[in-house]
Amino acid sequence: MRPVAAIVLIFTLIFPSLCFGTDPGATNPAALVGYSPATGQSEREWEAKYRAIPDPANLREYMRRLSARPHHVGSPYDKDNAEWILAHFKEWGLDAHIERFDVLFPTPKIRVLEMVAPTKFTAKLEEPALAIDPTSNQKDEQLPTYNAYSIDGDVTAPLVFVNYGLPEDYENLDRLGISVKGAIVIAKYLHSWRGVKPKVAAEHGAIGCLIYSEPQDDGYTRDNVFPVGPMRPPDGVQRGSVMDFASNSPGDPLTPGIGATPDAKRLALKDAKSITKIPVLPISYGDAQPLLTALAGPMAPDEWRGSLPIPYHVGPGPAMVHLKVAFNWDIKPVYDVIAKIPGSVAPDEWIIRGNHHDAWVNGAEDPISAQVSLLEEARSMGLLLKQGWKPRRTIIYCAWDGEEPMLLGSTEWAETHADELRQHAAVYINTDSNDRGILNMGGSHSLEQFINGVARDIEDPETRMTVWQRAQLNAIANAKSADDRKELRQRSDLRINALGSGTDFTAYLDHIGIATLDLEYGGEDEGAGIYHSVYDDFYWYTHFSDTNFVYGRALAQTVGTSVIRLADAEVLPFDFVDFADTMEMYTKDLEKLLADKQEEIRERNQELDEGMFKATFDPRRPTVAPEKEEIPPHLNFAPMQNAVDSLTRSAKHYQQALAQKQASLGDDAFAAKLGALNRELIETERKLTNADGLPRRPWYKHLLYAPGVYSGYGVKTVPGVREGIEQKQYAEAEQEIVRVARALEDESTVIESAARDLEQTQR
Ligand SMILES: [Zn+2]
Repeated sequence: MRPVAAIVLIFTLIFPSLCFGTDPGATNPAALVGYSPATGQSEREWEAKYRAIPDPANLREYMRRLSARPHHVGSPYDKDNAEWILAHFKEWGLDAHIERFDVLFPTPKIRVLEMVAPTKFTAKLEEPALAIDPTSNQKDEQLPTYNAYSIDGDVTAPLVFVNYGLPEDYENLDRLGISVKGAIVIAKYLHSWRGVKPKVAAEHGAIGCLIYSEPQDDGYTRDNVFPVGPMRPPDGVQRGSVMDFASNSPGDPLTPGIGATPDAKRLALKDAKSITKIPVLPISYGDAQPLLTALAGPMAPDEWRGSLPIPYHVGPGPAMVHLKVAFNWDIKPVYDVIAKIPGSVAPDEWIIRGNHHDAWVNGAEDPISAQVSLLEEARSMGLLLKQGWKPRRTIIYCAWDGEEPMLLGSTEWAETHADELRQHAAVYINTDSNDRGILNMGGSHSLEQFINGVARDIEDPETRMTVWQRAQLNAIANAKSADDRKELRQRSDLRINALGSGTDFTAYLDHIGIATLDLEYGGEDEGAGIYHSVYDDFYWYTHFSDTNFVYGRALAQTVGTSVIRLADAEVLPFDFVDFADTMEMYTKDLEKLLADKQEEIRERNQELDEGMFKATFDPRRPTVAPEKEEIPPHLNFAPMQNAVDSLTRSAKHYQQALAQKQASLGDDAFAAKLGALNRELIETERKLTNADGLPRRPWYKHLLYAPGVYSGYGVKTVPGVREGIEQKQYAEAEQEIVRVARALEDESTVIESAARDLEQTQR
């Protein structure tokens, strides 16, 4: 159908913006926060020009090139990609360079998994090449299937099936009277970050850990398997890091807290705390099935069973398993590509934008699908600069290396430049991968109103609604209660997700305290099926995901608009009313968490007194009754409640002050006096950190957001208090309430001072 394509091309050249319908942002009459009516209008014009530039054909070509060969840390193509990205940043007119760090990156030397009794079986540990998939045969360059930062080990022991390997799964095993002491456990992937599984297993006395991909979660139960469909084939394996980053820190395990520069003082390998305590190996369900089939013992609880055609028993044994792994514990280079656009008025205020370029294998979906959007943003901004656009603040584009092993490139860069970042960084915006569907918005709640505003200006490629409308209606469709639906219809902004970890924003938000956004489109494609396998490649992505790259363009439009709007605003568009509202919600959540815990234990103690466990005991399926427990004490939440009240007052005061001065913002003499105000706004996220960090994990300094010690990627909001309650450290939770309250009071003081500064500024 070539003629049609030619017509479309001509039309595109003449009327670029008309081709995707009307740009909703160009005609949106809503005032831009942080701009005067006049500067807001010219800003909207620049943004509309920007959004007309990103081109799906470019995204496709960048992906073809970057995912053509395996490009993990230390591989030739990883370096080649970094140099290719650097050359393009320069070609597009950006001031770019590569920053190199030297990090510990283990690769496998020995991998053996065999069943030695009651029958013999040797696991394949191998993902076969598929004739239809042209990059799946690049064997020489592919990393074998393994979990990075597993300790070396050689163990033989009975096998126990532990469901997802979460703390509550071990409580269930206790009820079944089963211990994993001295055993090798086999856990299903998902429902926690993978590194939590060996951590919890080791805490319960296990000596080895296998993690397998259950077909119910990302295989044939969901859809046809690759290459017929998108899902995980029988021999597909999820590689991945198992570093215990949540209890320690991400980044290079030998240089915690400092940059892994050539002269950095490095720990000895034996002193690196974040390496696992027991050997770990990921396997396919093809390799897992014979092992699971050979288990006896009690039947697994209903909700533990997957969809393999076997009875799921728990063990222990009689399956006896031999697991042997050994690694090359080498120091490898990572190459971060950093590009700058200097600010014209406030060069010392930085807007930072990042996405990683390294992958486990070819990584078309993770991370290239979003790295290509980052590149197209940079190219488009280069064109705007040539047309005379002058961003007020400095913009920094970062293509990170070494994300997959554990956020190596982004963390080392943040630790190396920590002092400058504390001084200058206003906002960090992250992406990691991208598929078709709904805009998923996560971040600091002072940016909730801002990113909702951007989402109202972007057109959804499939529905032609704004991506905001689509996200709202999708949330209503999935809401669990009438109250939730009411809020979704009435609240002016959609709530954004709090951020845990699992991608490169971690050091920027959790360690330095920079207001952060993390964005992606998704929900319509099954990326889980090829996640971290050799099949995550150009063939898979162009057959089963955003095949025409229109969501890649939508991502470039969304993130690029955010970067430009943040960089150009006279006053940084932070809002604290949504933030205060969120803090009020979190405080209530914590009170409810404690009340629920009290009720749960009270109820269980009563059941024990009443003889419930005796009554339900089945002698053929014996269970062990839990111990009686002390009911958790009441905690004093008043300091947090009072702090939230003053936060709410100062947030409203600031919002009014900004609205009153809006007309003046476009005045050059007035805008020239806004340096101190913007400085205070940048400080607002820092105020939410504490130099001592969270209990037992001082690297994590943010008091409101952190990855969970026992969930990994999953966020724990107000982590000191929440984990104190969850882990029954009630005295600690009470102290943490006071620390959080003090931070929120300080936050309120800065916001109040910003409001007064704004009121007192005259033309
Ligand atoms: Zn990634």
